Amino acid sequence: MSSWSATVLTLFPEMFPGPLGLSLLGKALANDLWSLEVRDIRKHGLGKHRTVDDTPAGGGPGMVMRADVAAAAIDAVPRNGRPLIYLSPRGKPLTQARVRDLASGPGAVLLCGRFEGLDQRVIEARQIEEVSLGDFVLAGGEIAAMALIEASVRLISGVLGDHASTEEESFAAGLLEYPQFTRPQSFEDRPIPDVLTNGNHKEISKWRRARAEALTKERRPDLWTLYEKAKR
Ligand code: SAH
Repeated sequence: MSSWSATVLTLFPEMFPGPLGLSLLGKALANDLWSLEVRDIRKHGLGKHRTVDDTPAGGGPGMVMRADVAAAAIDAVPRNGRPLIYLSPRGKPLTQARVRDLASGPGAVLLCGRFEGLDQRVIEARQIEEVSLGDFVLAGGEIAAMALIEASVRLISGVLGDHASTEEESFAAGLLEYPQFTRPQSFEDRPIPDVLTNGNHKEISKWRRARAEALTKERRPDLWTLYEKAKR
């Protein structure tokens, strides 16, 4: 079986692997548990200056990435069954459910925008899925692509090692994670909650579930509503 593979289309290939080359993900990359191919969109730029953008039709500030240049960059990539995703603030916000889905597939082809974004026609012509990192605006799609890759790759079996559990963490059961503690037993007069130190695993699970529920209810009423619906 071939490993999970990401292809990133960007105007700033030197940004990669960046943080993806460090720590457990970097080790997994070196060990071929996943692979990363970075392609420079500018190779498909036009003319002597390899132009990739132009002024927006209808006027306004900034520049827009040309449809023909983006299409040429996209069409040069072997898809191998991978979804084609444009990181965009107008996309569907990325969720852990989508990340799990991506991690269980063959990988992803990720298009990073810059400037004012991408000519709408190539999004439609290539039926590109738009995915957002959240309701804020970045200067480019690269950090969003890295976030999507990091979230996906850490779920690939063998990447985090035996110790880490991705089953109990935030969003896994539709809840935020319970609070964590470690030594020292007392920090500035704050002891670790008794229940966590008495060794009663049933009590501990009950406490953790209750804390996770209370935290979710308080901080994320949107998730709490979905959680309650799913329980019914
Ligand atoms: N004018 C656009 C923003 C362009 S920002 C608008 O208002 O919608 C430039 C590039 O950064 C985008 O093409 C996109 O690839 C990336 N980007 C910005 N914010 C993002 C977000 N929240 N999620 C994913 N990508 C984002």
